[in-house]
Amino acid sequence: MIENEMDFESRLAAPEYTSEDNEIENSLRPKQLADYVGQEKAKENLSVYIQAAKLRNEPLDHVLLYGPPGLGKTTLAGIVANEMGVNIRITSGPAIEKQGDLVAILSNLENGDVLFIDEIHRLNRTVEEILYPAMEDGKIDIIIGKGPSARSYQLSLPKFTLIGATTRAGQISAPLRDRFGVILRLEMYKNEELAQIVKRSSGILNIPLDDEGALQIASRSRGTPRIANRLLKRSRDFAEVKYDGVITKEAATEALASMEIDELGLDSIDRRLLTTMIKNYNGGPVGLETISAAIGEESVTIEDVYEPYLMQIGFLARTQRGRQVTPAGYKHLGIEFNGGNSSEQLKLDL
Ligand code: ADP
Repeated sequence: MIENEMDFESRLAAPEYTSEDNEIENSLRPKQLADYVGQEKAKENLSVYIQAAKLRNEPLDHVLLYGPPGLGKTTLAGIVANEMGVNIRITSGPAIEKQGDLVAILSNLENGDVLFIDEIHRLNRTVEEILYPAMEDGKIDIIIGKGPSARSYQLSLPKFTLIGATTRAGQISAPLRDRFGVILRLEMYKNEELAQIVKRSSGILNIPLDDEGALQIASRSRGTPRIANRLLKRSRDFAEVKYDGVITKEAATEALASMEIDELGLDSIDRRLLTTMIKNYNGGPVGLETISAAIGEESVTIEDVYEPYLMQIGFLARTQRGRQVTPAGYKHLGIEFNGGNSSEQLKLDL
């Protein structure tokens, strides 16, 4: 039971998509650029490209979106398709196992469609090679048969826009990256933007939420809309049982405290990660794999999910020799900073 509760709590503050999100996420996704809160730079760029493509009556150039999970990459891809007036086909890097899978997807697109590939950095190389000519010339070569009787055919594809999403821009191979005309980085959201997002969501879900309640949820959502919407849903239960149904500051505070999410949005795993580094490794520098083994979380999860926010708020730094807890991190946990391991730590590689 306790273990289940731990899983449940850790999930609440983790920005990855879970099946629990499914039911509400689709209804909460903005459909138009005007309803998409924040990310002003990305929005401005996209809006120009969309208008230009429409004027020329051509599909939009291929777009690569990158940034941590839950920041709105899938949502933005849907908006682009909607604004261009075309269909969107959604898939992901790991779901396309063989070249044939991708050929089938590409040849079933209609003219102008958007193909959204989430986690595009996880496409395997042979599949990726099909994408190059498809993105560049709208053609793919397929080989039928084996050995001396093998024949190569060229297939012309409908014009399409590939929108790739990744949490790791650095892991995309150069030939793939070079084929995207537009590369946009999504930033973590400001509290006011997240408050606006939960206010909008509360209207759609019919959950009474006052301004202070919205800001309270926003400030603990780690800059991530997906988490904000999830915390909104959880806070509703507390408001209904104890606060006449309205999510006030008090209702939100109590709900978040019960989920062990602190005032900066750190959950039990963030705290365990930092305290383990402090207690076992004197705050670091310590390698990612070592941290992963010590806290029992996969290193990719630490890198994609936990680190970005801890680095953003200045609690964790990357040094040449590994990860290191900063004095601010110590302070937040109420542990005295003893100067760390060596002067090495001052050479932060940020
Ligand atoms: P990603 O693809 O980056 O993991 P999603 O696009 O699935 O993230 O976004 C997660 C949820 O957050 C969506 O259901 C959407 O409702 C909400 N969301 C994300 N970005 C925004 C935004 N800019 N404005 C309003 N809601 C957003």
